[in-house]
Amino acid sequence: MDTQLTWYGQSAFKIETPGGKVLLVDPWLTNPVFERGTDEIDALKRVDLVLVTHGHSDHVGNAVEIGKKTRAKLVATFDLSAAIVTALGYPGELADVETTGHMGGTLTLLGGEITVTFVPAWHGSGVSKEETAPSVYGGNPSGLVIAIRGGPTIYHTGDTDLFSDMALVSRFHKIDIMLVCIGDHFTMGPVRASEAVKLVRPREVIPMHYGTFPVLTGTPEAFEAELTKRKIRVQVRVMKVGETLALSEG
Ligand SMILES: [Zn+2]
Repeated sequence: MDTQLTWYGQSAFKIETPGGKVLLVDPWLTNPVFERGTDEIDALKRVDLVLVTHGHSDHVGNAVEIGKKTRAKLVATFDLSAAIVTALGYPGELADVETTGHMGGTLTLLGGEITVTFVPAWHGSGVSKEETAPSVYGGNPSGLVIAIRGGPTIYHTGDTDLFSDMALVSRFHKIDIMLVCIGDHFTMGPVRASEAVKLVRPREVIPMHYGTFPVLTGTPEAFEAELTKRKIRVQVRVMKVGETLALSEG
């Protein structure tokens, strides 16, 4: 079986491994551009892992509700995991040392079916219980390198600016698929995202974190134009919200 990748809008993805395990990354399913969010959460029978890149609500999203419902374990950096448990109520027994790590560390999970490596991102990571409440410290934001046995290696950038150390990501992992934020305003936009692709050199790139709110003005068209301008050889796959792609092994 191929690996299945579903995009829910913003930075939220579902990954189903060839072994049938289910991972959710930055699971904000009830976002403004995915109309079936609530139904989709109801329909989630099995989730093995919930992975979160940083503490902002458009990334933590429905993590706590999904964790309680499915008993998925929380994969995040140490400070972020602690904040999501203590401030938001993710079940603590599902956020133990096995699935908690930090920058540069690699976790081997699900009996070796996947590894997750935490890599840096330039952003913020405060966790807020309510919009009006002061945020709780959530450590440094991260990107995630998810290597799937019998499947591709996926780099989810999280929310970030371009930074030259992105080149180090592909020194240690051959990246097949890069999920890259392009929306501008809160993250890099198309110009800087295209430079990020140049540093990481993935086989395929999927744009994310655009179009959810009016201020996220970066478009896949502008992103593709910037890649073309720089003669970067990469396959761009623009996903529709709610679409599932089959991904072959790396
Ligand atoms: Zn965001």
